Amino acid sequence: MSLVLYIVVPCYNEEEVLAETTKRLTAKLDSLCQSGVIADTSRIMYVNDGSKDRTWEMIEEYFESNKYVTGISLSRNRGHQNALLAGLMTAKEYADVVISMDADLQDDIDAIDKFVEEYNNGAEIVYGVRSSRKKDSFFKRHTALAFYRLMARMGVDLVYNHADYRLMSKRAIEELSGFREVNLFLRGLIPMLGFKTATVEYERDKRFAGESKYPLKKMIYFAIDGITSCSIRPIRLITLFGFIIFLISIVMLIYIIRGHLLGGTIQGWTTQVVLTCFFGGFQIMSIGVVGEYVGKIYLETKDRPRFIISETKVK
Ligand code: UDP
Ligand code: MG
Repeated sequence: MSLVLYIVVPCYNEEEVLAETTKRLTAKLDSLCQSGVIADTSRIMYVNDGSKDRTWEMIEEYFESNKYVTGISLSRNRGHQNALLAGLMTAKEYADVVISMDADLQDDIDAIDKFVEEYNNGAEIVYGVRSSRKKDSFFKRHTALAFYRLMARMGVDLVYNHADYRLMSKRAIEELSGFREVNLFLRGLIPMLGFKTATVEYERDKRFAGESKYPLKKMIYFAIDGITSCSIRPIRLITLFGFIIFLISIVMLIYIIRGHLLGGTIQGWTTQVVLTCFFGGFQIMSIGVVGEYVGKIYLETKDRPRFIISETKVK
């Protein structure tokens, strides 16, 4: 029995790239089918993430004209991670293995062969890892590096230089569905699943056409979300800092009492102001950090659906 492969592709305003993506993915599936590696019921599954352009109309057209294309449409824009999850949860009903990739052809399609090979060698999860960042802009390269460093510091277990280009077995996705959190950070969650994993290196290209849907602001939120979803180290650091300040204050207390006993207590206005400002700022920031977590708890307890599928086109 050969393998049913689904390729899940989240799309947000991707009308410029969809034709080319469909062409290349179709060719890839065709060749894999012909060599008998995958079954001919394998499919591409586009997830329309509430696009405002012709993305969904195009998916519907391909659905009619191309035997490999299927699609689901979310009721509104929910962001890349939720769109991806919607795709994975839908595809697992039909597929043995699911590969997720971006619509913009940045991920090397030829790595799919190696993904499947690793799966056949027993891996339940195969991570696509970029071999270099030469083709990224200077800015993206450095912010990405800072991102991984920060995540590691905060105790989030990430696969270095791996985005969301990966293969997951049906079983792994089944287990992923047990993670009920609303604040999704898949790159942090999937390593938690365990199982036998493998990595495949590939060269990541420039976006084929159109603009990045991840401007700096979204990237920063993504990083904060990633840390607060997977680690409570920021709260720990505040506790640690508070403890150190406490120790220092004991030393200062002794120093001040000594000064008082010796009769010279007038000096020290500058120190006063500096310390008041410093601790004022630090306390507000600390409340903010704790607030981030409280906010997350609030969102999690509501347990709202992470996506709503408005249309499904499968065959
Ligand atoms: N995307 C999405 N919903 C969003 C934003 C992006 O589904 O709200 C998709 C987008 O269509 C693409 C993928 O997520 O397939 C990655 O986005 P992009 O290529 O713009 O990000 P970058 O590669 O610049 O980080
Ligand atoms: Mg991209």
